[in-house]
Amino acid sequence: HKYVYDFSEGNKDLKDLLGGKGANLAEMTNLGLPVPPGFTITTEACKAYLTTGREPDGLAGQIEAHLESLEREMGRKLGDPQDPLLVSVRSGAKFSMPGMMETVLNVGLNDRSVVGLSAQAGGNDRFAWDSYRRLIQMFGKTVCEVPGEEFEHALDDAKRAKGTTNDLDLDADDLRGLVDSYKQIFAKHTGREFPQEPREQLDLAIRAVFESWNAERAVVYRRQERIPADLGTAVNVVAMVFGNLGADSGTGVAFTRDPGSGAQGIYGDYLANAQGEDVVAGIRNTVPLEELEQLDKKSYDELLRYMARLEAHYKDLCDIEFTIERGKLWMLQTRVGKRTAAAAFVIAGQLVDEGLIDLDEALHRVNGAQLAQLMFPRFKLDHEFEPVAKGIGASPGAASGKVVFTSARAVELAAEGEAVILVRRETNPDDLNGMIAAKGILTSRGGKTSHAAVVARGMGKTCVSGADELDVNVPAKKFTVAGQTVSEGDIVSIDGTTGKVYLGEVPVMPSEVVQYFEGSLDPEHIDNALVRAVHRIMTHADARRRLAVRTNADTGADAARARRFGAEGIGLCRTEHMFLGDRRELVERLILARTDDERESALAALLPLQREDFVEIFREMDGLPVTVRLIDPPLHEFLPPLEQLAVNVAVAQERGEDVAKEEALLAAVRRMHEENPMLGLRGVRLGLVIPGLFAMQVRAIAEAAVAVTRDGAVAKPEIMVPLVGAVQELETVRAEAEKIIAEVVADSGVEVLIGTMIEVPRAALTAGQIAEAAQFFSFGTNDLTQMAWGFSRDDVEGAFFWRYLELGIFGISPFESIDREGVGRLVRIAAEEGRAARPELKLGVCGEHGGDPDSVHFFHEVGLDYVSCSPFRVPVARLEAGRAAV
Ligand code: PEP
Ligand code: MG
Repeated sequence: HKYVYDFSEGNKDLKDLLGGKGANLAEMTNLGLPVPPGFTITTEACKAYLTTGREPDGLAGQIEAHLESLEREMGRKLGDPQDPLLVSVRSGAKFSMPGMMETVLNVGLNDRSVVGLSAQAGGNDRFAWDSYRRLIQMFGKTVCEVPGEEFEHALDDAKRAKGTTNDLDLDADDLRGLVDSYKQIFAKHTGREFPQEPREQLDLAIRAVFESWNAERAVVYRRQERIPADLGTAVNVVAMVFGNLGADSGTGVAFTRDPGSGAQGIYGDYLANAQGEDVVAGIRNTVPLEELEQLDKKSYDELLRYMARLEAHYKDLCDIEFTIERGKLWMLQTRVGKRTAAAAFVIAGQLVDEGLIDLDEALHRVNGAQLAQLMFPRFKLDHEFEPVAKGIGASPGAASGKVVFTSARAVELAAEGEAVILVRRETNPDDLNGMIAAKGILTSRGGKTSHAAVVARGMGKTCVSGADELDVNVPAKKFTVAGQTVSEGDIVSIDGTTGKVYLGEVPVMPSEVVQYFEGSLDPEHIDNALVRAVHRIMTHADARRRLAVRTNADTGADAARARRFGAEGIGLCRTEHMFLGDRRELVERLILARTDDERESALAALLPLQREDFVEIFREMDGLPVTVRLIDPPLHEFLPPLEQLAVNVAVAQERGEDVAKEEALLAAVRRMHEENPMLGLRGVRLGLVIPGLFAMQVRAIAEAAVAVTRDGAVAKPEIMVPLVGAVQELETVRAEAEKIIAEVVADSGVEVLIGTMIEVPRAALTAGQIAEAAQFFSFGTNDLTQMAWGFSRDDVEGAFFWRYLELGIFGISPFESIDREGVGRLVRIAAEEGRAARPELKLGVCGEHGGDPDSVHFFHEVGLDYVSCSPFRVPVARLEAGRAAV
């Protein structure tokens, strides 16, 4: 079994096996770029180690062989006392998990080779001892779990003894002394000496990287990013190159385009005389990449050439890590870079213009989650609000919330429903939970590539980094800025696009993309790269998609907005809201009716009100289909709760008031009480049990359609019966409805369809029979999920889903994204058997899943005709339906 690949043996398509970093190092190597030589140990080796607790057979020998050939290539032996080869041992999973797993640098240094390293570096003792102390520190912490603070304290002590706060003031002797202190710390915590044998260092470091796949922060990150837990990480063993060999050395990060806006240009950060981890950790402030041109023109020009080459090769935005060792440029990593939602659209549009990709490919380069982000509101700024600081717009969005300074406090307050902004000098992987809980992240240090910026962008969370006017004091739980002190609990607002920070809560307004969808920004006539790109890609999605997109809307206003957003009809108009407010009184009369006359008079009073509701909706949806669902919830939902009523009656009696009506209501509520109302008298059952109720609604719909048609509009009503489980239920309701419709529409030209929801598992399983009586099906995937799993949709999310997610029983709530194997199977069966019985059967979905990107792809695959979702999700569904079709 092959567990180890030389860089020259891999390529970018082997990410499953070699991880992202390994696959791309291989690709760059084969493109002829200057990559330090090395090899990759596969994710399979990692998985084998994690399941059995030991390295798989054959791995040690393969590492030995690859190490030997690396040594031959470099002309140096690992840890050789005179002229040592040193290697870095780096994690690299299929999906990028920035800073979540481990890396050990300078492997191969020991008491003897440190001298050889100094000679290699031209007699630079300081450098050699600094590298050695870094190895003991990283190795101790990562491989042997020595508490990191111990090393940091020793480093602080050494600096204090020297009267400085800057690492660079420590000379070779100080660092030699520090190495001794580090070794003692190491021995104290591990009960053994720091390993001097280079090969042992290497093996232990590899093992530690394998194990870091299951580090807590990596587990949390994967859950957040929905990365499967069983992929494992690859391990890259790479010949060391040094960016900390003096002023002619350095390290940096570069993007081929701005990952924030998508604009073309040179973006990145550079740090002279430093190692790579220093940049990402945001420990020292970097300089913009352009400044490298002054520092080292030759390397700068070379880097730009490679960047252009990589972009043309990957046909996408690439991000790059590089190191310059005494004037020689080395490429340490590249990948298709993370970017903001806005940049994703802009870049996709640019690449089409440049002829690198076509519009179908552009559709693959963006997604509905990104579009949803672009529809978030923006700050509405007028003279009242002046920024108090300006940092780097690291991840866009507008976030206001209470200031907190620790991850734990962020989690605590967020659990109480508070919006919080996590404020730190810089973040590190231990802040992950707080970053997830926060609305936004604000740091005083670090550039566009700092930990905070990279992780926030990945999460789509608003982030301002490097706002260095902020003086953050975490232990005191406050920061000062512009002469003001901001304490925990005070409100700040941060703009992740401009990098501006405001005190207090800034009001918000619709984003440009929403203005475009609303029709108030004309993409052909404004100079806005984002709006133009969105327009272009949406137009292509619409041209490509096979699924129609409708909306769930219960009012004329919602219907109108959804139509502007591109809805092609209403897939679900819930009529229950039409029984609320002033109309409750009429519902009470209906419920309390003792005679047919009383009931009929209550229904007669409701009829014109309902008719008006429908008229408004049909007008807004002129020419488009409107699916109106007959009333679904149990009627006692429209009555006051039992306890409240009982108290009212008691109080009124006490006062000697006339309580006859309240008592009657109370008796009715008692009578109608159900232990499991969601499985009780609701949906079609109401229509079968309460005479005249459905008839009134059907009449109101038909009369509204006729009225609208007389005014010259086109009404296309579709009456939908909820909660059907057996064809007989539908047949009964339908027979009554058809009589009324025939009478009302007469020769008006109005055509009314009658169909049903498929939301009870039995309906899905007998869809062939039900289709005989239905002109359309609409999958109510909310109830279908509830009943297929036996999960109460109103209770489970807060109660125990966290445990299910933790155990990986599902990766996401089945109420959010369709459970393909279970609920999805019911949908598939019903679609197939329904269509077999009635080929012209219209199929749609109107549960929440209709606006969920993954679910939209599933509904496309199953061959539904449309999805229906809330107005704001309509553009997302259009885009995803387009993506599903290409
Ligand atoms: C459903 O059950 O999926 C549905 C759309 O109906 P409701 O959410 O109103 O129960
Ligand atoms: Mg339902």
